[in-house]
This record gives sequence, C-alpha cells and structure tokens, in this order.
Amino acid sequence: MEFTFSAEQRQIRDTVASFVDEEVVPRAAEIDATDEFPADLVSEMADLGLMGMPFPVEYGGAGLDYHSYVLGLAEIARGSGGLGTVVAAHTSLAGTTIYEFGDGPQKEKYLTSLAAGDDIGAFALSEAESGSDVSSMSTTAERDGDGYVVNGGKLWISNGSVADTVVLFAKTDPDAGRDGISAFVVRPDADEGFVVEGTEEKLGDKGCPTAELRFDDMWLPERRLLGEEGEGFVQALQTLNGGRITIAARSVGIARAALDEATSYAKEREQFDRPIADFQAIQHKLADMDTKARAAELLMHEAADLKMRDESFVKEAAQAKLYASEIAREVANEGIQIHGGYGYTKDFPAERFYRDAKLSEIYEGTSEVLRNTIAQRLLDE
Ligand SMILES: Cc1cc2nc3c(=O)[nH]c(=O)nc-3n(C[C@H](O)[C@H](O)[C@H](O)COP(=O)(O)OP(=O)(O)OC[C@H]3O[C@@H](n4cnc5c(N)ncnc54)[C@H](O)[C@@H]3O)c2cc1C
Repeated sequence: MEFTFSAEQRQIRDTVASFVDEEVVPRAAEIDATDEFPADLVSEMADLGLMGMPFPVEYGGAGLDYHSYVLGLAEIARGSGGLGTVVAAHTSLAGTTIYEFGDGPQKEKYLTSLAAGDDIGAFALSEAESGSDVSSMSTTAERDGDGYVVNGGKLWISNGSVADTVVLFAKTDPDAGRDGISAFVVRPDADEGFVVEGTEEKLGDKGCPTAELRFDDMWLPERRLLGEEGEGFVQALQTLNGGRITIAARSVGIARAALDEATSYAKEREQFDRPIADFQAIQHKLADMDTKARAAELLMHEAADLKMRDESFVKEAAQAKLYASEIAREVANEGIQIHGGYGYTKDFPAERFYRDAKLSEIYEGTSEVLRNTIAQRLLDE
C-alpha cells in the first residue's frame, strides 16, 4: 500500500494549483456576486486540458488517472465551488456517460468536443417530481419512425443553460419502471423543442447555471440513443457512482480553502494583545478541520484507487462523498466561527465556503440516500 503521489500526479496538482491561485482565486468573489458562467475561465481551463482530464487522448482528453483527476478537481473547487460543479457535471456526468456507454461514432462526434472543452456538457436526470426516486421520472421518448419524440422537463440541471451537449434520460417504456428508462444525446442548438425555462437562484455554487429544461415534441434520431433502450437507469447509476468521487473532491477542495483562510486569519487577528491563533480553543478547531479534511482525502483516493483497478467501489464512493461533503460543511462552519463577526459578512470568503459546501450534501445522492446505499452494501456483505 503506497501513500505517495507519483511525480506526474504531483506535477498535475501543482500545475492546477498555480492556475487556480493566479486565475480563479482572484475572480472567485466576483463569480459569487454576479452568478455568471465564467466562459473565459472555462476556455482557459480547456486550453490546460482541465475539461477532459480522465478521458483518453484519442478522444481529446488529457488521459489522466483518477487520482490526478480528483486532485485537479479539488484544486479547482478550492478556488470556486461553482467552477468545481461546472467541471464535475461536464466531465464526470455528461462526458463519462458518453465515454462508457456511447458507440464509436458517438464518442468521436460528442465526447471529443467535450473532452477538448470546445463543447460544454450537462446531465439531465432529475425532474420536479423525481429526484432521489429516479424511476418515477415522467419525461417520455416515444418511438417515431427512425427516431423518438421527447416530451417533459428536467429541473436543477448543472450547466443546463450553457450546454452544447446534454445527456438526457427519458422513458421509452413508461410501464416498465426503471427498466423503461433510456439515455440520449441532445444538442440544444440543433434539436427543435429544447427549451431553457430559466435558471435557479441558489444559496451558493454561483457561476454554475442550474437550469430548468423543457422538451416540446423534441425529435431525436435513433443514432442519439446511448446503448440499448431500457439501459438508462443502470447507466445513470453507474455514472453517478463515479461522479460521487468527484463530488468528494469538490468538498475536499472547499474544506481546504476554508482551512487555509481560517489559518491565515487566526495568525493575523489579534485580541487580548495576541493573535487568536495563540488560544488553544482556536488551535483545536484548526487541528480538527485539518484532520477531517485529510480523512476525507484518504477516502476519496481509496475510492479512486478501486475505480482505477476496476474493482467494486460503490460503497467506498458513497462513503467518500458522504463524509467529505459533511466535513466540508463542518469545516466551513468552523471557518466562519474563527473569523467571528467578519466571518458572517462578505468581507471574507468564509461564508461563501459554507454556502458552497452545503450543496455537496444534496446532489448526486443526498446524504440520506448514500447512507441507505452504504447500509445495504454492509448488510449484503
Ligand atoms: C444546485 C443543484 C445542482 C444539481 N445538478 C443536477 C444535475 O446536473 N443533474 C441532475 O439530474 N440533477 C441535478 N440536481 C438534482 C439533485 O440531484 C437532486 O436535488 C437530489 O437528487 C435530491 O432530489 P430532490 O431534490 O428531489 O429531493 P427528494 O428526493 O425529494 O428528497 C427530499 C429529502 O428526502 C430524503 N429522502 C428521499 N428519499 C429517501 C429515502 N429513500 N430514504 C431516506 N431519505 C430519503 C432526501 O435525502 C432529502 O433529505 C442538482 C440539484 C441542485 C440543488
């Protein structure tokens, strides 16, 4: 068992960290305030290969192993939680579904542009009445000659209003429950009937548009079906299992940002004629924050390791995401506490870390649903 990164993994982490410190951190407050998709930053990230980190070079990706990918993603989220979601939804969800389940021509046509960052991807699974219970979705894709007619709507779709390629889940057999769900590639610019209803106003995760989508008699040719009809539920779950490791990474990045900020503040802020870092109460908070962040990192890398070895990682990915997202919120909360009154204001980024951290406990499997998954696996073992 090795706990050391390779020279290449360290180099990737350091390269992304430098980019984030120079380009993302100085922009993070502005992204948070305006809630605008930072297209220029995303284009710079594409030039660095950060929009296709885990995909093979032959499909326009950077060909990185999963450890390197999560290290890179954690660094991006350290700079901006919203940007972390932009990359995670684009890569771990949209790109990965096409990579894992698309045929040769589909990968050539859609994945290559996604991995190069020329196109932005979104993954449209959730609906107003169907969140944790995926099989209750009501969007339908009805057979129509050599294609399908799609009707329905999706809610809370990250990147949904800026996406060039959307992986969409719809029922091709509404009476078959989870076995009636299929996945399709949608091209919003070309597919008539694709409507962006609007975007959500959110607590945090600013800069990543969270869109409501509607499909009005949207016709899709048969060649847009990913895999076979009825395989969508399993494809979605498998994709989300891997995605959870990257939401753990997003959480680790936010926790690190909160800890770094709190540590430097504690050294500078003086009360009772001494830096507050001299007080043991503050030292213990910092010690707990660092310990939790390190434990979350280890769970994240263990899940990444299992995935890379093609071993079962469902329980470990759920545990990594569950733990990392909960400690990110706790660490960010202590970060605010260490800042005292300033922590509750927008003068410091401590409150942004808290708002950004909270989301990780909700999407790609809520903490409650992840505990169900972990318990089921434990009881089955
Ligand atoms: C900012 C943001 C971005 C998102 N991005 C995407 C995206 O890109 N693509 C996408 O498809 N979706 C996306 N989502 C949707 C997200 O995945 C869902 O919100 C999430 O799965 C929970 O579904 P729900 O909101 O309907 O909550 P519900 O499923 O209604 O759950 C409500 C509460 O009940 C609990 N609960 C539900 N079922 C159980 C159970 N069986 N056991 C115990 N407790 C349970 C939940 O844990 C939760 O506490 C996003 C959401 C947000 C907020």
